[in-house]
This record gives sequence, structure tokens and C-alpha cells, in this order.
Amino acid sequence: MMPAAFIGHGNPLNALDHNRYTEAWRAFGAAVPTPRAVVVVSAHWYINASAVTAMATPRTIHDFYGFPRALFEFQYPAPGAPEMAAEIAEVVQPTWIGTDDDSWGLDHGTWSVLTHIFPDADVPVVQLAINAMKPLSYHFDLGRALAPLRDRGVLVIGSGNVVHNLGRVDFGAGETGEPWAHRFDDAVRDALVSDPQAMLALGHHHDFDLAAPTPDHYIPVLYLAGLAAASGETADVFTEGYFGGSLSMTSYTIGLDSLATPDDTAGAPPLPDVPADETNL
Ligand code: ZN
Repeated sequence: MMPAAFIGHGNPLNALDHNRYTEAWRAFGAAVPTPRAVVVVSAHWYINASAVTAMATPRTIHDFYGFPRALFEFQYPAPGAPEMAAEIAEVVQPTWIGTDDDSWGLDHGTWSVLTHIFPDADVPVVQLAINAMKPLSYHFDLGRALAPLRDRGVLVIGSGNVVHNLGRVDFGAGETGEPWAHRFDDAVRDALVSDPQAMLALGHHHDFDLAAPTPDHYIPVLYLAGLAAASGETADVFTEGYFGGSLSMTSYTIGLDSLATPDDTAGAPPLPDVPADETNL
């Protein structure tokens, strides 16, 4: 069965950087069997509908502000997988998912991590939109419904950040997390490593509103929880850390025995000199 992952993507500059997070993502890419296709649930495709990309050649979308020109010029030319759109629509029935032929593509939640996981951009990629109109349980259930894809050689990746409060980023805080950030990140970890079904209760955690003032970056981890619940697996942490007090980078896998721990201790790259909540990171 194909492994699956949730990746805390953080700063888009990770696409161009080499640090302990990106090295862990590379180790993950080296450890997984080459998949038929990758399905990414990215925090940055958060819309009022359920949809999957179906174009043969998805464009690279630069959906952020204030970063260096090199990042706006970055391209991740992976092919799409139009046949996967139909397969996903079938596997999640009776839930309805529409196909997107021309509006989206690959956003930085997808390419900033995939460029490390599959540097040659030779694995077909589709994105699954996060339907912002639906409750948290919908996303857990949809993750569960995607489980049969793992037996068909498809790699499912959620890309967000468990704790993501850009309005509270403190540039002086460096690689630390506020107490509430630790509490919520720890609660998610406790659930994922022991009882992924327990993730369904965390929308009521007393630190949820601080950790996920908008749920777009949190929801992708619910897809991994649903996948884990479907197969009776628990998750493993494969990299972790905090930034600016209010972001956590904790990342999880299921279906992998262990990953080599990178010894590169460099932390997160610096953010641009603009308010963090205007960067769309
Ligand atoms: Zn993001």
C-alpha cells in the first residue's frame, strides 16, 4: 500500500532552500515507491466547491506576495493526470467532486514541497480543492474515502500547517512556538500517533481558534487522519518545528517504517520584510 503524508509547508522560500525541513521532504521522496500520480490537498486551494484539477498540463501558480523574483519565476512542470480526476470522482461517491479544466493548477502549497519530494517533476500531479463550505468532518470523511487510491499506486499528500496564525507571527520569536501553539500541535500529534479518529474532536479544542483562525491550513491534516482511520494505521512524525511563535511545521507519514533523520540543522528561511498576514504563505 502506498504511504501518505501531511506536510507542514511554511514559507514558500522552502522551494529554493535547503534546510532540515526540505531535507526531510527529500528523505520522504526517496523512501516512497514511485507513484502513479500524486493527489495534493493544498491549503491554498480553498474554495466554495469540491473540485479536482483535470488539466493535462497544470500551470505553476505564484499565489503569495512580497517574496524575491526568483520565487515568482519558479516553475514546477509536472504533468497533470486527467484520468485521475474521473477516478477520484468515482472513488468518493456518493460525495460529488467536480473537475477543473482551466482555473487552477499547482499552487505553492503543492510545488514548494513536491520540488523536494520529486525534484524531476516527472510524477503526474492533481490537486484536490478544499471545500470551504463544508464542516471539518466532511474532510476527514473524504480522506477516508480516498483510501482505495493507496492500493492503486497513488500518493496522497496534505499540505498545510497544523498551527497557522499569520496575524500573530512575531519575527523576533525565531523558531519557537507560543504555549497555545504547542498545546494544539501536541493535541494533534497525540491523536494522529495513537487514534486518528480522535482528530474529529479537535475542532472543539480550546486553542483551535488561535491555532487555526482560518481552517485552510489545518484541514489538509484531516485528510491524512481519514486515510489512517480507513486502514487502521497511526501516523509517525517525520519532521517538526515552529516559526514566529504561531506556525508549526510538524509533518506526518503513514505507511512508512521510518525515515532517516537529516542532520542538516538549518531552520526556516527568513520571511520578507512585510507583515506576515499579507504574504499568503
Ligand atoms: Zn501556506
